[in-house]
Amino acid sequence: MVKQFDRGIPLKVIAYEDRHKIVTALTENYGLVSAMAKNSVQSKRFGSALGLFVASKMGFTQTENGEWGHLSEAEVQKTFSGISGDFEKLSYGSFLNEIFLKIAQPGVPAPELFKLYVNALHELDQAKTPEIVLAVVCIVLTKILGWSGHKPNFKTCMACDQSIQGILGAKVTLDFNRVCWVCPECSDPIGLTGSPLFVFEMDFASAQPIKNSLVIIKSDLESLKSGFHFLLRSLCYHLPGLDVNQLQSLRFIQ
Ligand SMILES: [Zn+2]
Repeated sequence: MVKQFDRGIPLKVIAYEDRHKIVTALTENYGLVSAMAKNSVQSKRFGSALGLFVASKMGFTQTENGEWGHLSEAEVQKTFSGISGDFEKLSYGSFLNEIFLKIAQPGVPAPELFKLYVNALHELDQAKTPEIVLAVVCIVLTKILGWSGHKPNFKTCMACDQSIQGILGAKVTLDFNRVCWVCPECSDPIGLTGSPLFVFEMDFASAQPIKNSLVIIKSDLESLKSGFHFLLRSLCYHLPGLDVNQLQSLRFIQ
């Protein structure tokens, strides 16, 4: 097996016997990589490189399906230490790890997912308010929906085509099945109630880098929370294998 080198961030790390770790990392060019890091517990060689929310240059071998290679070296490039030190950021960071573990595939390069994940960690690390923490997560979910071929239709009412900007004072119905909204006049019995401002902000964010979108966020925490649950429900509805009941980190997210 040839050794590969790539940038990677561990999404899950489990202990194996006393001295080893099995690391599942999202890499820039090799998709999801699961590899054994031998003698990595309390190892000077690896240092903090096998921690969550740490980006490293990794050297690993891989089997054809991307499973069970060996991780022989890792050198820290960037530590997002603001995430581990804050309960709320840690909860949402762990949530993102669970989502990326489900959507990234072994042996399938997805550099755009890696970029989205790195940018998300950077913004979570820097976030100053609970609103921004939640907005980062909502923007990531919106972008994942687009990436997976279920781009939200947020510009206009699904039924009558009126623009979201025309009804910013009202409430809209969010439809997770079609990932869209309908205005009060066209109301949809199967939807959730949502804020037009949130819809407008996520529509803007879907076509922008996360950083550029955060400056326009004015939604309050309640609108962001209901929007978060709508986006999560949309994602679970459309992506096979993603089950809201299996997401452990949701227990820490109210
Ligand atoms: Zn309408």
